[in-house]
Amino acid sequence: MLSPLALFAILIVSCTMSVAILGSLRRTAVPGVGRWCMAYALLAVVSAAVLLVGDRPRPLAVITISFTTIAAVTLLLQGTRQFFGMKPTRSAELVAFAAAFAALVYFTFISPNIGARVVCLSVVLAYGRIVVGMLALRHAHHDGARYASRFVALAAWLGALSHLARAVAVATGAVQAVTFVQPSLWNIVLLGLAIVSSPCMSIGMVMLAHDQLVRRMERLATIDELTGALMRRAFMEKAGVLLAEARATGKALSIAILDIDNFKVINDSFGHAVGDRTLTHIGVVVQGQLRVGDLFGRLGGEEFAIVFADTRKSEAVGLMNTLRLALEQWPDDGVRCTFSAGVDRVAPGDTLEGAMARADAALYMAKAMGRNRVVTASEADAPGIAAPG
Ligand code: GH3
Ligand code: MG
Ligand code: MG
Repeated sequence: MLSPLALFAILIVSCTMSVAILGSLRRTAVPGVGRWCMAYALLAVVSAAVLLVGDRPRPLAVITISFTTIAAVTLLLQGTRQFFGMKPTRSAELVAFAAAFAALVYFTFISPNIGARVVCLSVVLAYGRIVVGMLALRHAHHDGARYASRFVALAAWLGALSHLARAVAVATGAVQAVTFVQPSLWNIVLLGLAIVSSPCMSIGMVMLAHDQLVRRMERLATIDELTGALMRRAFMEKAGVLLAEARATGKALSIAILDIDNFKVINDSFGHAVGDRTLTHIGVVVQGQLRVGDLFGRLGGEEFAIVFADTRKSEAVGLMNTLRLALEQWPDDGVRCTFSAGVDRVAPGDTLEGAMARADAALYMAKAMGRNRVVTASEADAPGIAAPG
């Protein structure tokens, strides 16, 4: 049968491997990974210390191991909060942990009581894991990446269960108060459960970090950093989906292409940085005006496109004019920023490229007419409306 000491040896190996894997993610700058890594390093040190001191630890060793364990739980909790974008520290929690440590000191030096120490440390360990599991579930992403959160929660709660069972059994006197290394069956089962859950939790944390990296890469590949608009390829893909939906439902769809007026002059007069800020401002204003379901993309340079879902051409012209007026209220740097736009409907039998070409032609008409205006493609140029499929 496995002895508790063998289990602690396994824990050293698994914690060291967790440190190696989490450590490899540190350069990705995923928040919380550094603290997770340190927590597992401390747990490896604690396990090694437990192995070294054996069955009859000296009081100083007991208190050092207890302190390091509480520090590891604190780092695990803080890392998890940091990962989910929360403030890592909680003063009430630090106070409670300090009180637990004071109790451990009391039950080690002043009134030695192994049972009270085991209960105290088990409650701290259980609390840490319960909260990690709760945080993982509460912040689970809604884009299909819930698997990792559920995995972390399951592993954390499995460990919490074993620590709680130990605390309750010792506190109620159901089992004799002994150290974590006692070779009894119940101790081996509870220890085994806790030790299995540890690497599972770190695997789950790696999954969480991986999911966050994937989301980051997807964002980098689809969202324009300066304006928050969709990049051209992502815009065309999503617009294609909207067109297919409009074909299926028979709902109206309109497209606008807009181009900033005399943007070169803004760059030349105020500098490229102000030009960039102007583009960012445009992104903020446009996204503030768009409705749920509309699409906003940056086609390139200072040229953008908007697909208005379930919107007729005349409504789209109204929305574009509202946008044009909103954009004129630019408070910074004395930069007056206007745009010209071409608008057309996307008929069910249309291709996206065809509708965009007509909107583009209307945009150039708007430029030729003196800029700062919205022009629609002539009805005569539009193809016939195909019956909804
Ligand atoms: P028009 O009214 O005819 O559209 O005139 P325009 O000056 O806006 O058009 P033009 O095509 O002559 O110039 C566009 C300028 O936009 C030139 C380019 O340097 C600038 N530009 C494109 N992308 C960016 C960017 O990301 N940041 C900045 N600051 N400028 C950009
Ligand atoms: Mg321009
Ligand atoms: Mg242009």
